[in-house]
Amino acid sequence: MLKVYRNLKPYLLSILAIVLLQFLQAMANLYLPNLMSDITNKGIMLNDIPYIWRTGGRMLLIAAGGVICAVISSFLSSQAAMGLGKSLRSQIFRHIESFSLNEFDRFGASTLITRTTNDIVQIQFVTVILLNMMILAPITAVGGTILAVRQDASMTIILAVALPVVAAVIALVAWKGIPLFQTVQAKLDRVNLVLREKLTGIRVIRAFDRLEHEAKRFDTASRDLTDTYIKVNRIIAVMIPAMLLIMNGVTLSMLWLGAIRIDEGSLNIGNLVAFMQYAMQILFSFLMFSTMFILIPRAQAAADRYNKVMEATPQIADPKNPLHAVEAGYVEFRNVTFRYHGAELPAVNHISFSAKPGETTAIIGGTGSGKSTIVNLIPRFYDPEEGEVLVDGVDASRLTQEELRAKIGFVPQKAVLFTGTIAENLRLGNPAATDEEIAHAAEVAQAADFIDAMKDGYHTVLAEGGSNLSGGQKQRLSIARALVRRPEIYVFDDSFSALDFKTDAKLRAALKKETAQSTVIIVAQRVGTVMDADRIIVLDEGHIAGIGTHKELLERCEVYREIVSSQLSKEELA
Ligand code: ADP
Ligand code: MG
Repeated sequence: MLKVYRNLKPYLLSILAIVLLQFLQAMANLYLPNLMSDITNKGIMLNDIPYIWRTGGRMLLIAAGGVICAVISSFLSSQAAMGLGKSLRSQIFRHIESFSLNEFDRFGASTLITRTTNDIVQIQFVTVILLNMMILAPITAVGGTILAVRQDASMTIILAVALPVVAAVIALVAWKGIPLFQTVQAKLDRVNLVLREKLTGIRVIRAFDRLEHEAKRFDTASRDLTDTYIKVNRIIAVMIPAMLLIMNGVTLSMLWLGAIRIDEGSLNIGNLVAFMQYAMQILFSFLMFSTMFILIPRAQAAADRYNKVMEATPQIADPKNPLHAVEAGYVEFRNVTFRYHGAELPAVNHISFSAKPGETTAIIGGTGSGKSTIVNLIPRFYDPEEGEVLVDGVDASRLTQEELRAKIGFVPQKAVLFTGTIAENLRLGNPAATDEEIAHAAEVAQAADFIDAMKDGYHTVLAEGGSNLSGGQKQRLSIARALVRRPEIYVFDDSFSALDFKTDAKLRAALKKETAQSTVIIVAQRVGTVMDADRIIVLDEGHIAGIGTHKELLERCEVYREIVSSQLSKEELA
């Protein structure tokens, strides 16, 4: 929590002002009962109307002053708390951007979203209350007690009885409520997770008629959250009447004891009135304390979750003394083994191969054999557990991520497009690309035809995630985006899978010319796609089963022969 509050530094002046304003407000509040007692004792009892007017006027002025202080103070504290929230949000967002895929795997997207939004809102909310009460509550409690004792010492016995009872109620609420508050956030995570899956997977859910099932899943998560909230509110619901009961009990006992003492002649009505007001102020300040006690753990839980994210150091960071690439377009794997976070077995084992400019290296293998894993190691989405990945003669981890990634045109297995026009999406590859370059890349990627057929051509706006395009169209745009970059190294991760054979063949022919000077790494499932590569790597459950040309592998590699015979007819093989 304190760590989070370091971000309040820019608001130090505001906070000082808040402290001062609250001090003034507390003083005003504490002074009013005094005047009230004067009005009663000197004005009403002696029938001095001008005195009542005068003192009443003063009371109004002081009360107005107190209100102004309260308004400005709550304005400043809201401003500081919102500013804190904004700075926390942008910090966590920037930090999450620096995460490697490892950290994304570890946290999961849903909780990162709740931590960036709801948790910070919790912190903001509690901060406003804290700033507004931190000074007011203690001054009122202490000042009120001193002044109450001055009005009539013997009646403070009522407070001496009432306050421990209040403290006990607060302690009970804290003991029951705090653990519940801490679970609320985790339950909210769960609701978000289910909701996110539902929204992104809506097509699958419909197709498999899982609406009912998903609705139940959401209901369960939502009910769980509701139940927790209800429990929390039940406790609060008990607390409020309990507090009112105590307050009314205190009033009643004061009136009773006061009446006796006034009868005896040892107390003035004015002093009784003032004493009662002080007693209420003290009880209210205890209520403020109790609110803080209940809210702080909640903000603490949110702050802990926030800090956990901020403390996660990205496993992939830029080297302190980065080297520069000595060559252009060379990729070499030396005995690389990699294991995903939390996985028992490595996804790929002892992978060694090299690829160089002007050559095409293909990776083929069954699903789950580790093809995507291998290519994800090239742009350093992950670091190998063992061995090294060399790019242009230098260990990839010794280059800055910027230099490394500028060399690579990466076409991921799942085409990802962003909201915006087609041209904007293609320019992600290279913001400086001219219209001609964009059109050329689209031409090569066999995307030009369908883009031209659209009413707005390159200015067609894509919906979220490119959902207004077919899978094959998305893949081709994703390929064009990599081409716009004109990188030294092309990586195509199963990028031709959604294309029909004819488009696949045309695209590869056009690519060949385009990428003649570059290093090309193609992951594929189809033998037809990899057949004429300079080097084919056959993967089998994370191990290399063979490396060679199509012809060599047909002779030597059993796994390759199996893949081939499952896909090509006898004639094609001959
Ligand atoms: P391919 O691309 O050949 O189909 P992948 O490289 O995607 O295979 O996956 C290889 C293995 O690693 C699979 O067993 C898969 O379950 C596992 N795997 C892939 N991605 C992750 C991940 N993010 N976290 C944990 N395991 C993963
Ligand atoms: Mg894959």
